[in-house]
Amino acid sequence: MSGSGATGRAHSPSGEVLDVIVVGAGIAGLYALHRLRGDGHRVMCVESEHEVGGTWYRNRYPGARCDVESLDYSYSFSPELQQEWVWTERYATQPEILRYLIHVADRFDLRRSIEFDTRVTSLSYDDDSSLWTATLSTGRRAAARHCVLAVGSLSVPLIPDIPGLSDFDGEIHQTTDWPAEGVDFSGKRIAVMGTGSSGIQAIPHLAAQAEELWVLQRTPNFSIPAIGDELTPEEFSRAAAQYDERRRLAWQSSNAQPPREFCDESALLVSDEARNELFERFWHRGGVQFNKIFPDQMTSRAANDLAAEFVRTKIRELVKDPAVAERLSPRGYPIGAKRICTDTGYYRTFNRPNVHLVDISEEPVDRVDGGKLVTRERTIEIDALVLATGFDAVTGGFLGIDIRGRAGRTLAEAWAAGPRTYLGVTVHGFPNLFFVNGPGGVSVFANMTLVSEQAVNWIARCISWLDDHGYRAIEASASAEESWGTHVDDVASQTLFPQARSWYSGANVPGKPEQFMMYIGGFANFGRILERVARDGYRGYVLTS
Ligand code: FAD
Repeated sequence: MSGSGATGRAHSPSGEVLDVIVVGAGIAGLYALHRLRGDGHRVMCVESEHEVGGTWYRNRYPGARCDVESLDYSYSFSPELQQEWVWTERYATQPEILRYLIHVADRFDLRRSIEFDTRVTSLSYDDDSSLWTATLSTGRRAAARHCVLAVGSLSVPLIPDIPGLSDFDGEIHQTTDWPAEGVDFSGKRIAVMGTGSSGIQAIPHLAAQAEELWVLQRTPNFSIPAIGDELTPEEFSRAAAQYDERRRLAWQSSNAQPPREFCDESALLVSDEARNELFERFWHRGGVQFNKIFPDQMTSRAANDLAAEFVRTKIRELVKDPAVAERLSPRGYPIGAKRICTDTGYYRTFNRPNVHLVDISEEPVDRVDGGKLVTRERTIEIDALVLATGFDAVTGGFLGIDIRGRAGRTLAEAWAAGPRTYLGVTVHGFPNLFFVNGPGGVSVFANMTLVSEQAVNWIARCISWLDDHGYRAIEASASAEESWGTHVDDVASQTLFPQARSWYSGANVPGKPEQFMMYIGGFANFGRILERVARDGYRGYVLTS
């Protein structure tokens, strides 16, 4: 093994070849840096923002919080860290998660290896030397034997293409780039575009401040209460005392969270009373696990319809105006096939006299005209526009870098017909380039902190194995990539997930090839596959000495 990682520095003076360049300092990149440096490699991490945290640095909109319990949505690699960081809410809010990630960066002395305010603009591979050269936005170049792309699955925001938007005569705020000092909307007329996870979390908070709020909804989403209970110090201590067991269960689970007591019978076979009692219980507990109550909820449309109708009934109970309730009620796709949202008081917000729902599937926004939004049917005067319009998910961050692999082939060319990987971590034609949370991996289908640890552990082990066995390059074979892609498609096709047009399949991005992008065979199962491939001497890979 080469390198003097523990004393390494972020700068790669010209001529010096690093062992690894890590791109991104969010949850995945921070752990990759820590792990690879700890393994003795010289590592430079490059982060385009001014601070660590990724998602949790940028998405500072009011109401932002995780939908996985904080005790689980946190690193498992350090038992000491687990005990010393005390979570104060069951589902942590953005400020608390960001404080945690800043603490991790400081506690493990990661900052000295991070180049902040610097973007990796291109990466190119040289066949002869088996080295990657990164071009940075500062104009500098850095060479490394390996690159780890931890650029995020939800890190490239989408801005809608509305005529006149750039000349809007008021404030525009994106949930993905919220001012750190917050925004005061008191006395203002605002419109929020987008009712996905971010919009649904932000809307109740914005409605409480604004004079008037228009919610521009294209597709209604299913939302479950987040139940932001406080975690008292005593509750935290009790839970932390069980951490080993909690993590053991999470690592063996399908979604990287300790399983709750789900029902093991079909939703179609239990009595109406028992089914509704379970739906009620999970509704009141909140969180995204609502789509996992019955084993057939995501495989049988009839079973799924029962869960969907339960939520629609809740919407009718919560929203006083039946016409508004109907417009807020998702129909035409299975519940859970688009990511279930979580909220604090979203549906009730529509009972406020200052909140108005605009269905832009029926009356699209034609243009922005000075300080007005002009839809097909009306003109709305506003002072501020909030964009909660989603992401170019999963592939956007990777394709945002001009990546050129063997023989100069670009990643954009390799993925022109849709993204393909071997195991979500590697792509044929791109040796020694590792993707964290890439397409074809579990990615956004489980608690992403453990998903990121799983991928990074595999990558770190692979790099050390290559060094120990005298290999300078590893590349996924075309056939291994092909059969993994087929398997990923097969598994998805046995479920209801492909029945919704969503960001899971790129349907929200004009021109993006539509393809269900995640491996949904389960987190623990995926871990076993990764383990077997490694144990078999990296089956499916071409190794170069
Ligand atoms: P990110 O946090 O996106 O970090 C990627 C980093 O890479 C960013 O800092 C970015 O600036 C940097 N970067 C990208 N490209 C470059 C480049 N070319 N050069 C330099 N730097 C670059 N997941 C869950 O499991 N549970 C949740 O409850 C949950 N809630 C979420 C709520 C919101 C609002 C959002 C947006 C996402 C949520 N997610 C959740 C998904 C979340 O993105 C992941 O859980 C996790 O934060 C991803 O970490 P990451 O390090 O992979 O990516």
